[in-house]
Order: sequence, then structure tokens, then C-alpha cells
Amino acid sequence: MDKTESLRQARQKLSDYVRINSLRYTQERETLLDAIYLTETPFSAEAMSKQMSEKRRMRVSRATVYNNLGLFERAGLVRKVYINEQVLFERTDRNVGVIRLQCSNCNKVTEMNDDRVRHQISEMRTRRFTMTGWSLSVYGLCSSCMATLKRKQKKLMNKDKEKNENRKD
Ligand SMILES: [Zn+2]
Repeated sequence: MDKTESLRQARQKLSDYVRINSLRYTQERETLLDAIYLTETPFSAEAMSKQMSEKRRMRVSRATVYNNLGLFERAGLVRKVYINEQVLFERTDRNVGVIRLQCSNCNKVTEMNDDRVRHQISEMRTRRFTMTGWSLSVYGLCSSCMATLKRKQKKLMNKDKEKNENRKD
């Protein structure tokens, strides 16, 4: 799906949602939605309100951004993601079923896809619950942190070995 098409669909979704819930379709909401649907990576509410005032020259308070993000979430346009203990938001039209590998040492996040996992989750039966999307966080150590850890362990082992050998003398 190209950018303009996903944006058109998002606007339609918002317009349907506000109509059903007797809310207003405001210019402010549309501008915020447009900004979100041009953002590729997960973002914080704070970063989004900053972007709104800087790039779009729109004075939108953080509270308004928060409120609208809540509304967009209920409308199925964005979802919350928890990355490094931070609450971020992302568009629902992308990253469907992404797996995030999070390093618990340096907080680096790598994204990956796995068709088998995707298939299994899509086949999963959820009781009294309609699944609209998912994301999966896998915790561990990235390769460079693992290498550093191994180096440190080796150093420690060598030190112990030296101590033992000195004792023998
Ligand atoms: Zn790391």
C-alpha cells in the first residue's frame, strides 16, 4: 500500500469513528493523524507534540496530543508499544506482527519477522477476545554486549587461573 492510500484509509477510519461516537472531525485531529501516518517508527506522545509545533507550526498542547492518541487508539489507528520501559505509539497499518529483539544491557532494539510465528498467532483461538494485532518482545543480549560479557568472563577466569598458579609456587 502506498503512503497516500494508507493515509486516505486512516482518515476514513477516523471520520467513521468520530461519526459513530458523535465526536467532531477537527482540523487538529486530521493534522495529527497525517503527521503520524508519515512517521515510520514508534514515537512518544511528547515527541509528536514537539513535531506538531515545530514542523507544522501548530500549537497543540501535550494533553491534546495524549487525548487524541487515546482516541486514535480506540479507533484502531495507533497502538501502544512498550520499548525499553517507555510507552510509545505506532501506526496500526505497519509492523503487523513484528518481533522486537531488545537488548537488556544497551537497550538496542532490532526488528524481525518470522512467518511461522505469524501463522501460529493468526491461528490462535482467543476466548471472548477479538484480536486486532500483536507485537512480540524478546529480551536478551545483542551480539556486541554478548562479546563484551564473554571477554570480561574470560579475563576473570584468567585472573583466577593466575591466582591458583601463584598459590602453587
Ligand atoms: Zn546490547
